[in-house]
Parts: sequence; structure tokens; C-alpha cells
Amino acid sequence: MEAFQGKIRLTKGVISYLERGIGYSEIETNNLTYKFKDCFVYPGFVDSHGHIASLGTKLNALQLNDCLSKEDCVQKALKHQELRGNWLLGYGWNNENWFNKSFPDKKELDFYFKDIPVCFYRVDGHSIWVNSKAMEIAGINNRKCDIKGGDIIRYKDGSPTGVLIDNAIEIVTKHIPKLSKEKISKYILNAISELNKNGLTEIHDMDLNPDLINIYKELSEAEKLNIRIFSFVKAQDDEYIKYKIKPYCSDFFSIVGIKLYVDGALGSRGAALLAPYSDEPRNKGLLLLKEKELYEKIDKAIGHDLQVAVHAIGDRANRTVLKTFNKILEKHYEKHNLYFRIEHAQIIHPDDFCYLSDGRIICSVQPIHCISDSEMAIKRLGQRCKYAYLWKSLLNQNINILGGSDFPIESHNPILGIDAFVNRIENNTIKQWFSEETINISQALNAYISNPRGLGYSNIKRGKLKEGNYGDFIVLNKELKSKTEIKKIKVIATFVNGKNVFIDKSFISY
Ligand SMILES: [Zn+2]
Repeated sequence: MEAFQGKIRLTKGVISYLERGIGYSEIETNNLTYKFKDCFVYPGFVDSHGHIASLGTKLNALQLNDCLSKEDCVQKALKHQELRGNWLLGYGWNNENWFNKSFPDKKELDFYFKDIPVCFYRVDGHSIWVNSKAMEIAGINNRKCDIKGGDIIRYKDGSPTGVLIDNAIEIVTKHIPKLSKEKISKYILNAISELNKNGLTEIHDMDLNPDLINIYKELSEAEKLNIRIFSFVKAQDDEYIKYKIKPYCSDFFSIVGIKLYVDGALGSRGAALLAPYSDEPRNKGLLLLKEKELYEKIDKAIGHDLQVAVHAIGDRANRTVLKTFNKILEKHYEKHNLYFRIEHAQIIHPDDFCYLSDGRIICSVQPIHCISDSEMAIKRLGQRCKYAYLWKSLLNQNINILGGSDFPIESHNPILGIDAFVNRIENNTIKQWFSEETINISQALNAYISNPRGLGYSNIKRGKLKEGNYGDFIVLNKELKSKTEIKKIKVIATFVNGKNVFIDKSFISY
């Protein structure tokens, strides 16, 4: 990926003229010329796994990511004013960052919040922490009930602690009032402008709630979307069939596929492993879909002309998905524009590399998960960390990898993702973690720029700076060249479809 300096002219959203120069970048639109000294132009970044509406909600919500204890979370919550209906919602607590790493319980919340329901989502979205009022509304009591693929954690006496895992989450969250349409639109647009600031011009939006489709379509028709969105709709319970969702294509909003889950997350021990967790010898995690169920769901989606993206974290989950993808490929071999995406692909057993032989199997990875999970991953996986967060090994198998962040779970800043790909330095340390899996800057840029645009549903007229291509590009303060300087890179300006959607005015030179 070559950095560009020189002149770019934009006409009707398209690059109509390019002239290389040295030491400056000049972007000429219909009515304005932007001049940047010493800056470099790159095609816009793609985040191949994010959640736009959730980012919008998070930007406006009580954020618990930085809290260092459960008490800290409660104190921050006491200062937060905005309620949804009468619910207090919070996002991002992470007991792995607390002094006392055990799961919180309802007691801390009940002390301060007796009369209003409280629901705090864990950072990975795979568990919630609620108070007694919320459980009362949801009808959760001392009576035990089996929840397939989920759990209500209980004390020895059978009473619920206030922590719910995976499929149990919905028992509470279905009672939370919905946001108004106006608020959702506002949140989505807030999220997009935040993404633009970070040089993102294209997003693969995961788990799109079918209720939001019309909002996105309206925003798109009103030309308010400043980012290109490729959506994968929620499908675990066949939501897309109930809503009769079909593929949809427009310049800024497209529905390309469905999103399935075969397991949960590593932090909450919901990831399905082949052998038990190193720190919980009887637990191998949860497989949410068996091979046969997964096969049927994928086959059905293909019948609806939809692509498929499947969440798989543990090695058992990845084996299940890979075997199924291979069977499906046998059946649909002639469909060359179908791509089979594994989302996360965090732990792949080396015996399963043999299933990674078809170029249509894509691993959509989030490098930043690696450097923030490393400490926890060692505890959960022990020796198996050798096979976790594989990048170089996947490239060696000729597997196409896509870069993403899983925002708002992690930062949506792609520069941090590129740095994690290249340096793989554990958060808050100077230690490289399994350095043999690092990849070089050019490979990292491919994962964030060209690979996602090579997929059938994306458009090849982006991802390269050349005449005739769409004006989707960014201006950076430095060239992405030195491994140790990546974090010093700043996005100075972002253009989407030839329109300037973000600019840091302090960098315009003359
Ligand atoms: Zn996600």
C-alpha cells in the first residue's frame, strides 16, 4: 500500500485527476481546495466488524470501562442523569480490570438503587449485572430454570446473584423500553461522525437489529450517512426471516448478509473449547449451535441470497464452523461470489488448518482484542495461547484476513488496530505477546483497506487511489512506515464520496 502525496481533484464524488508531488497534499473539490503540508493520503479505512448503533448508544450512555472496582461503577452511576424509561443502563464494566476480579452482584446495586431497574452490560456484551428491581420486572426468582446457551448465576441457596450470561441476558433486556426513532437516528449520526474522525469510510455493521433497517434506509435516502455501511442482520433466531429481509444495495447502506453465533466470549468462559478451561477444569464453554443446525441456517441464508458471518471464538467453535463451511462449499461450489466469514476466529486448533484451504473462507479478526485480552487469555487457555489470535499463521495459509475492532467493545481507532497487528504489545506493558504472530505494516493495511473491498459485496472502485475511483480517502500526518511510530499517526481529514466529512483545521497549512 503506497502513500500518496500530490494533487487529487474530485468531480461528482469521483477522483477525476491525480498528480504525484512531494511534500504536500492538495485536495480539490468543486468549490474548495484543501492544502496539507507534509501529509500523506491513503484510501479510507474499513472496520470489518463493528456495531454502529451500539457505538451511538454508548457515546451517549453511562460508560463503565474505566472503573477499577464495582464500587467505582456504582459511584459513577449515581452521577449519571439520563434514564431510558425508568431504567438505568450502563456499559463496559470489566471485572478483569478490577482489584477484586470476581463477578459483582446485586447487593452493591440494591443498596443505592432500590426503586429503579438497573442493567449494566459487561465489556464483552456476554453478561449483564442487574439489581433486584430489574430481576423482579423480569420475573427472575429463586426457582431454577434451564436456559439453553445461557445461565442465571445463583448463590448456594438458589437465589440469583444478579449476573446473567449469554442467552439469559434477554430475559431482562427484553423489558427495557425501546429508544425513540429520533434518538436512534441522532445516535447513529453521532457514531458515524466519530468513526469519520478516525479515518473510517466504510463499516461492516454486525448484528443489525431489523427494527433499525428503515431508519438506516431513510438516513441513506436523505443523504445523511457519511460512511458506507454493509450490514449483517441478526439471525440467531431467524429474525431476518420473520422480518422478510432481502439483500439491499445502495451507495451508503447495504444489507449483505446475516450474523450467527456458535459460542460466547473467552472472558465469561462462554467460548466453546475442545479441552476444559485452564482456570475451570470442568468447563468447556457453550456451543450455541451444533454443526447440523449451523449447516441448515447457512444453507437457508444462501437460499435468500444472503452472505453469512459466524461468530466463533473457542477452538471447538472454530472447528464446528470450519467443518460446516467446507460442507456448504461442497454444495454451493459454483457460487463464486459467496464468502464465508468467521468473526473473531480467536483460537484455531492447528489440526483444523486443513479446513482453511478455500479462498472464500475469510477470517475477520480484531487485533486489539489480542492485546487487551492477553492477561485473561493466558489464564483461560494456558499453553493454547500459541494458537490464539493467529494472524501470521493465517496469512501463511493464504487466508484472507479482515481487520476490525468490534467497536464499541474496543476502541474504533484503526491506528490502534494496525499497531496491535504489527507490534502486538500487551496493554499497559512493553511486552510483545507471541511475537511470531505479528504481521508487517503492509499486511496490516491490506486487512484494513484492500481485503475487505475485495469481497463480492463490496466495490472494487474503492480501496485504491486512482482516477475513476470513488473519493473515499484520508489524510494522515505521517506516512505509515515505521513500526515504532504507528501510534503517532493522526487522521487529519476524511473524505467520503468526494465530500469532506472530517477535518482537523490546525493542520491546514496555507
Ligand atoms: Zn461484535
